[in-house]
Amino acid sequence: MVNTTIKTTRSQEIFAAAQNLMPGGVSSPVRAFKSVGGQPIVFDHVKGAYIWDVDGNQYIDYVGTWGPAICGHAHPEVISALHAALDKGTSFGAPCVLENVLAEMVIDAVPSIEMVRFVNSGTEACMAVLRLIRAFTGRDKVIKFEGCYHGHADMFLVKAGSGVATLGLPDSPGVPKSTTANTLTAPYNDLEAVKALFSENPDEIAGVILEPVVGNAGFITPDAGFLEGLRELTHEHGALLVFDEVMTGFRIAYGGAQEKFGVTPDITTLGKIIGGGLPVGAYGGRRDIMSMVAPAGPMYQAGTLSGNPLAMTAGIKTLELLQKPGTYEYLDRITKKLADGLLQIAKETGHEACGGQISGMFGLFFTSGPVHNYEDAKKSDTAKFGRFHRGMLERGIYLAPSQFEAGFTAIAHTDEDIEKTLTAAREVMSSL
Ligand SMILES: *Cc1c(COP(=O)(O)O)cnc(C)c1O
Repeated sequence: MVNTTIKTTRSQEIFAAAQNLMPGGVSSPVRAFKSVGGQPIVFDHVKGAYIWDVDGNQYIDYVGTWGPAICGHAHPEVISALHAALDKGTSFGAPCVLENVLAEMVIDAVPSIEMVRFVNSGTEACMAVLRLIRAFTGRDKVIKFEGCYHGHADMFLVKAGSGVATLGLPDSPGVPKSTTANTLTAPYNDLEAVKALFSENPDEIAGVILEPVVGNAGFITPDAGFLEGLRELTHEHGALLVFDEVMTGFRIAYGGAQEKFGVTPDITTLGKIIGGGLPVGAYGGRRDIMSMVAPAGPMYQAGTLSGNPLAMTAGIKTLELLQKPGTYEYLDRITKKLADGLLQIAKETGHEACGGQISGMFGLFFTSGPVHNYEDAKKSDTAKFGRFHRGMLERGIYLAPSQFEAGFTAIAHTDEDIEKTLTAAREVMSSL
């Protein structure tokens, strides 16, 4: 039997001190465990599929620093490439051949990308793309979907609840109404709602942005025909289609969700995996559209640390590792074993649950489902998820601390890791 009373004294001390130093004690909100209750654990080091906390406890990790650790944490080849790059300096603020290397890899991999611009985060990539599609079309309005996350830029922080759905009311204080007034929202998987927005706003919509597979409202897949339908509608109305593949790029398949589903957007945003654990984002797409970006064109966007040699190195090495034959088949197999196992255990222990996986991305909702959109996802028993999360943590399994986040596996996860995880899940679900 697994010891379920782990000692986390040091984590608690550090987190208590952090709360006086940083808002909520963290550098990014979800890390504070607010939605699952209890205290976060403070990490000491990471390696492969595992993390160790400051009290010396070891966990099997299904967050993978929110996606980038797809090869496993601190992969020896990534680390040694970084050591070599480090000796040449950390930032040039000038052209560097490593940018060409990563750019070529991205262009070769992602069907929609003919040219690419590197930035430092997914937020930055999405923010720039919004400016770009507005510049290219000369239109101001944009359609996003309820529950899709595109970083924390003002224009995307629109609460997508029913009453405010089409009014574009801001989701956070500090976001002026004027900033989100041009952000229209529709429920995910609802083509009719998108059609209606196009006919209510003729010749005003610059584009449609979405997560082609949602990971930021829990794990939600596109219904058959949804992505194709958006492709047709945007064509028909002279608007651009943007896939935010910050999470799904190089995760769902090497070429992202657009490769997996065979639907090619005009523009794509990337992040997470292409930085191999260092801060990187990117946006790219059709050559005529990307030619709008300064200094090739008039749309301004810049970055002091963009394309820096360390980040490029980690990205290049990570993508090289992912190119090994069998990578995505392996991820798919172990992740299916995990996702199917969790559903089976939920069923056997009498819990309503639904979920699934594609490649190394998975989700589990405590609701009978099916979940097609954020409204459906919100029917989940989040209190139960919180207890499940805590029980798993106490058994050495680190899951994303929210019902509304996808989970991630890495090629470093073994069958044995999955089996241990399912054993823990059975114990926890039996006691919920
Ligand atoms: C993580 C994420 C972002 C934001 O990226 P950051 O690097 O955290 O700024 C944007 N879009 C999607 C789909 C994401 O998953």
